[in-house]
Amino acid sequence: MVKELDLKGKVVLVTGAKQGIGRCIANRFAECGADIAVMDLSLSEDEDVCKEIKAHGVELLALSGDVYNEQSVEEIFAKIKDKFGRCDILANNAGITKDGMSKKMTVQQFSDVINVNLVGSFICSQKAMALMREVGECGSIINFSSVVGHMGNIGQANYSASKAGLLGLTKTFAKEGARDKIRCNAVAPGFIETPMTDVIPEKLKQANIDRIPLKRIGYPLDVANAVLFLGTDLSSFITGQCININGGSYM
Ligand code: NAP
Repeated sequence: MVKELDLKGKVVLVTGAKQGIGRCIANRFAECGADIAVMDLSLSEDEDVCKEIKAHGVELLALSGDVYNEQSVEEIFAKIKDKFGRCDILANNAGITKDGMSKKMTVQQFSDVINVNLVGSFICSQKAMALMREVGECGSIINFSSVVGHMGNIGQANYSASKAGLLGLTKTFAKEGARDKIRCNAVAPGFIETPMTDVIPEKLKQANIDRIPLKRIGYPLDVANAVLFLGTDLSSFITGQCININGGSYM
């Protein structure tokens, strides 16, 4: 039996939290009593994720913004500081895909994905680390890599490069944050059931599942539980690492 964590007094920012994995992560931390800032391109308190979080009886801050827009991220951290005075955990979950074969991929298509997934995580991490240092009580940043960041994937030069880049970013922030007890780790999900993967044709989905040793698709909760582990003191001696959440693929 897993004893639930008590995260009362902790503040978590989840980017890209309107749906999918981010929504599940925000709920998982709220279940444990943490106050939650949820952020997405357009997010109001009417969204389901906000209603769910409020039902856990914790404080909620709903924020609209773009992780790739530095000014927007600065405003978000100003609002978090104003409401909570701190940010203990950052889940850099926001991400996009714009797939296409490399020979046809435009530079715009390539850089759009790099900008949101990699540069956006850099901007959010930099601002989070500044607030964590100001508060001076350690912190934890979790980046979102992917199985394709390790392996590459046909039609995903932009996405694979962004997710591989996040592994280097994670190790560097881990080294730079360590003396202030700020940890930085990554998760690398495999094939997870979310709106991002809903667009994949059914036949291809089944072929993907057939290749997974545990013979099932992953669920957002599989990722959220790993993020909960990395975000909290359960992992207090772990930094600069990546947890693969992929049902045993590519072992
Ligand atoms: P998702 O369902 O597409 O959700 C991503 C969220 O991020 C969306 O709400 C999206 O908003 C938001 N977003 C996009 N661009 C943003 C920006 N510039 N600023 C702020 N928010 C932005 O994705 P998911 O499947 O839950 O994936 C979450 C993370 O896990 C991503 O980093 C993804 O790459 C990674 N991952 C997913 C899988 C998988 O199989 N699902 C596998 C490996 C890694 P809009 O909908 O308005 O664009």
